[in-house]
Amino acid sequence: MSFTVVNPATGVAIREVARADVALVDEAVARAVIAQRAWAGLAPLARAEALRAFARAIEQHGEELARLEVANSGHPISSARWEAAHVAQVLNYYSGSPERLIGQQIPVAGGLDVTFHEPYGVVGVIVPWNFPMTIASWAFAPALAAGNAVVLKPAELTPLTALRIGELALESGLPEGLFTVITGSGSVVGQRFVSHPDVRKVVFTGSTEVGVSVAADCARLLKPVTLELGGKSANIVFADADLEKAAAATPGSVFDNAGQDCCARSRLLVQRSVYDRFLELLEPAVAAWRVGDPEREDTEMGPLISAAHRDTVASFVDDARVAFRGAAPTGDGFWFAPTVVLADPGDRVAQQEIFGPVLTVMPFDDEADAIRLANDTAFGLAGSIWTESLGRGIRVSRAVRSGVLSVNSHSSVRYTTPFGGMKASGLGRELGPDASEHFTETKNVFYATDAP
Ligand code: NAP
Ligand code: MG
Repeated sequence: MSFTVVNPATGVAIREVARADVALVDEAVARAVIAQRAWAGLAPLARAEALRAFARAIEQHGEELARLEVANSGHPISSARWEAAHVAQVLNYYSGSPERLIGQQIPVAGGLDVTFHEPYGVVGVIVPWNFPMTIASWAFAPALAAGNAVVLKPAELTPLTALRIGELALESGLPEGLFTVITGSGSVVGQRFVSHPDVRKVVFTGSTEVGVSVAADCARLLKPVTLELGGKSANIVFADADLEKAAAATPGSVFDNAGQDCCARSRLLVQRSVYDRFLELLEPAVAAWRVGDPEREDTEMGPLISAAHRDTVASFVDDARVAFRGAAPTGDGFWFAPTVVLADPGDRVAQQEIFGPVLTVMPFDDEADAIRLANDTAFGLAGSIWTESLGRGIRVSRAVRSGVLSVNSHSSVRYTTPFGGMKASGLGRELGPDASEHFTETKNVFYATDAP
């Protein structure tokens, strides 16, 4: 059995990819169990050096990986190059972990007490289609660094970079069976990661709906799970902000990756006293957002991932109050023009994750109103606050219930800082200095020193 991978910018089929069954997953997990024991037994420096060699292989094949992502996901080439480089950086960053997974020595009577960070064993990683290689690396790099083996399931729509990264792992010298990419459907391969007794931890990134069912199934087996789910993040613009700067930054905050970004600032909240002025500044910025051929160096936004997804995104705009739109190519490919809609807080466009280039705009009156509106959603992943007041920036960033916020910036992802959501946006954190520890269990050992 196989499935067809399609270039979303042209609609043309590019490759057939195998669909694994449960037996194939079980074989990979059995190999991973064996490989993990040997891997965890290596000297810390040997594991560090193996991960550095893997990072170098990714670096050396960065252009190839970027081109694959352009063809499979329609990401603009400049973004895809950033993504490939990011994977290598994440591996390099966590290659420091094997030598730094430091436990504690705790004062006790009658002996010596020490804690160890023990790897889980085999970790199952389930990845969505929006950022195929970067999101995979956020789990596999720290998991491997902590002494685990990894089985990785990319989304059926976007398996190509993950498959190549799996080959590069072997070519760079990682042991056979330690890191296996398994293509197939979520309901078969992903579900088997959840139910397999030898997969001891699951990392799931995807929709809140599937995430909740994955977590419920993991709970029955007492299997720990990290969830990175959806978002409906607010971009809050106060009257005292640098309005020109905030308006110029707004298209990128929501239309990057055609809005198929869990951190997209898809709700723009603007203080009423500058609401009209801000929309005047925003309109030309949206018109100037360059949508088109992802292979062009200056393209800022490519197509949506599939025809079905384009239909879903369009269904949100059909009955909405459109303020203005940018441009997009017509013809083959799953194109959708950047769209700005006016909304009320309870509207479907203001509450549900659209995962496309649609920005919902709402006015607010004062700081308390802004905080209330920002928190008026089931999600809590990211968000931005634009203000020239230091005190307001601090107050509002502490009051918005989101995992990743930025003030006078739209930055969300730095591999050196923690990433993840509150509320319906997830459980647990990825990236940052502590991520490797999240792939370990603490063991406490007491050594009696009393003389016999
Ligand atoms: P999805 O439908 O939930 O799928 C995510 C992954 O789970 C895919 O690999 C999918 O496989 C697999 N899957 C589906 N059903 C499964 C099941 N019953 N058991 C185990 N695995 C299963 O999400 P998506 O449509 O690909 O991605 C979009 C969503 O991801 C958005 O909601 C977005 O916000 C979220 N996201 C969150 C983050 C974050 O870090 N917070 C980052 C990126 C995306 P197949 O599709 O191959 O069948
Ligand atoms: Mg899906």
